[in-house]
Amino acid sequence: MSRLPYFTVLALFIVVGFLSGCQEGSISGGYVDPALVVPTEKIPSEYVYVAVAAAHIEGRITRVVGRVKRALNNCCRNATGHVDIVVVADDGAVLDAVSVLFRPRNISKTGKKSAKFKADLPYAVPEGTVLRLRYHDSLDAADKEAYADALFQCEQNTAVPEEHTAVLLP
Ligand SMILES: [Zn+2]
Repeated sequence: MSRLPYFTVLALFIVVGFLSGCQEGSISGGYVDPALVVPTEKIPSEYVYVAVAAAHIEGRITRVVGRVKRALNNCCRNATGHVDIVVVADDGAVLDAVSVLFRPRNISKTGKKSAKFKADLPYAVPEGTVLRLRYHDSLDAADKEAYADALFQCEQNTAVPEEHTAVLLP
């Protein structure tokens, strides 16, 4: 008699487990051990913004991937720039500040209205780290088309918290 509900519940568990498993994964695809996931914080910006961000430790690097989107109210402005990334320790110290270009370089006004970025930090971030990400409309590194996905230093990284102590990684 009670067999049907039992199997229904079991099936639900499997489906829910499968779905949450997918969400743990990085958007670049593939399963990521939840223990290696690094939390990200997307800082809002007006006309273009970081819509998706995910990070995880992969061996001796920290991979950050995501998407930058053209805001709905942004019909006509250029959507060029880069993503500022700041590594913040659990005590608020800024460990690193880097930037990366996205592609396409100018986000289309039609279709997906988004661009991808990928940044490989050349170290595994310490436990308790949060990565802050913000879109920056600066033209810094705009001429570095060939170096998409490569990190560079932005002169005025917009993701640095207002109050922090700077302790750069060795
Ligand atoms: Zn910047």
